[in-house]
Amino acid sequence: MSLISVLPEGLYCQAGGFFIDPWKPVELALITHAHSDHARSGCQKYMATEISAGILHKRLGETINLTGTQYGEPLRLGETQVSFHPAGHVLGSAQIRVEHQGEVWVVSGDYKRCADPTCAEFEVIPCNTFITEATFGLPIYHWETGAQTCQEIYDWWQGDLDRPSLLFCYAFGKAQRVLAELCHLTNQMVYVHGAIQGLTEIYRRVGVEMVPTAPISEQPRSYKFKGDLILAPPSAYRSNWMKRFPQPQTAFASGWMAVRGARRRRGYERGFVLSDHADWQGLVQTVRQTGAQTVYVTHGQSQVLSRYLQEVEGVNAQPLDTLFEGEGDI
Ligand SMILES: [Zn+2]
Ligand SMILES: [Zn+2]
Repeated sequence: MSLISVLPEGLYCQAGGFFIDPWKPVELALITHAHSDHARSGCQKYMATEISAGILHKRLGETINLTGTQYGEPLRLGETQVSFHPAGHVLGSAQIRVEHQGEVWVVSGDYKRCADPTCAEFEVIPCNTFITEATFGLPIYHWETGAQTCQEIYDWWQGDLDRPSLLFCYAFGKAQRVLAELCHLTNQMVYVHGAIQGLTEIYRRVGVEMVPTAPISEQPRSYKFKGDLILAPPSAYRSNWMKRFPQPQTAFASGWMAVRGARRRRGYERGFVLSDHADWQGLVQTVRQTGAQTVYVTHGQSQVLSRYLQEVEGVNAQPLDTLFEGEGDI
């Protein structure tokens, strides 16, 4: 590797004097998005998209030294030109393009290719070297649209109005995507766990349209949530928090629900396949579209995807060891 290499602190660009999504405190951190395995505390300076500032401040503290940037805005860092481009993953998520002496590298962060009403659509950036994630880098992963999956969620909710419907999903990104997709189907109040409410307010403040929400904690103790939809993070599943809801129907929305047995193992009654990462086709198509001759693969199925890219697509691909965790954020 040359322009960007892996140090113990994270992905490092020497010519630019910065790290991208470092997993240890460094001087200057460029952040692709605010999920906890990409945005960690303790850095002296942060740069990220302006629209992700609200979430980054909530997660890393109001006092962090953060410079916001617009999508596509060229920035001079050291000897490099850097810009952030939409990744279609969560609010404010970006791929980071680094140019140095005519050579272009793109670090994807996490990304997806399906439409998502809560964030800007993924932009293909031509490059020489592409560092891609591969959280769902197996041919078995294929996503329906978010609109279709959220229709299924709506039908499941409406299918049993005698009980509360508890839908578990990641608090940042997934929950807001469900709330935004539901807008096309209803404007009924959806109740949310405390971990979701604050993040949802930040989405609302930057203009993302969602169904109305109310925190569960603010409802009277006598209220039983019969026929209501409730969103909560996976960490609340089987916790004391669930005692509030008599005999609920339960479901989990995640890309992992595509794997037979995952739902049953975790004990949810229903699984909805909804991911904020690219599926297999999305990954392969994206690598093709960038025109990159060299591809480094991080997260999850990096071996399988890099072997496929080498043998079938004929690009110089190899796995890259990082501490990114895939779809595990809550
Ligand atoms: Zn992420
Ligand atoms: Zn990630």
